Amino acid sequence: MAKAVIALGSNLGDRLAHMSHARRFLSTLSTVPPVASSIYETEPVGEASTHRYYNAVCAIETELDAMSLLEALKGYEQEYGRDPSAPRWSNRTIDLDIIDYDRQVIARQRLHVPHPEYEKRLFVLDPLQEILPGWRDVRSGETVDALIASSHKIEVSKTSLKW
Ligand code: ADP
Ligand code: MG
Repeated sequence: MAKAVIALGSNLGDRLAHMSHARRFLSTLSTVPPVASSIYETEPVGEASTHRYYNAVCAIETELDAMSLLEALKGYEQEYGRDPSAPRWSNRTIDLDIIDYDRQVIARQRLHVPHPEYEKRLFVLDPLQEILPGWRDVRSGETVDALIASSHKIEVSKTSLKW
């Protein structure tokens, strides 16, 4: 059994519905109910992205190995409406990223864990700190508080949305 942390993001259409639907999907991959952060609203990052995001993280426990988990998430993204040929950073109905897989460091062509640059992204770190306040980066050992202090300052607001 592996503990994994998944980051969710949506900035197109009914963002709350996309987030809730994806959370239910994650629960089908997990042997325990996912531990979910609040939803955070975030200013868009990158030129191709023009709408504000909803972001959150969920902690799950899964019997899937890391590559199978990635396949499951990518399959869901495609089925759920994202254009796989769209450029990175473009608007998306749902983005599911593996932030951590069982505290492993994985460097494969299609899968990098921890997720590249998560440690600089406040829209991942703020919800991560909410559900896992004792989090440390597996490579540097830095605390989530220290990572937040040195991350790019973008506007990230915790919401009280039910999802
Ligand atoms: P991003 O999330 O970086 O904005 P995409 O969601 O379009 O971009 O993902 C691009 C590729 O990143 C995917 O095809 C996937 O194979 C790869 N990838 C590498 N590591 C991860 C990870 N930890 N979680 C999710 N996707 C990953
Ligand atoms: Mg992604």
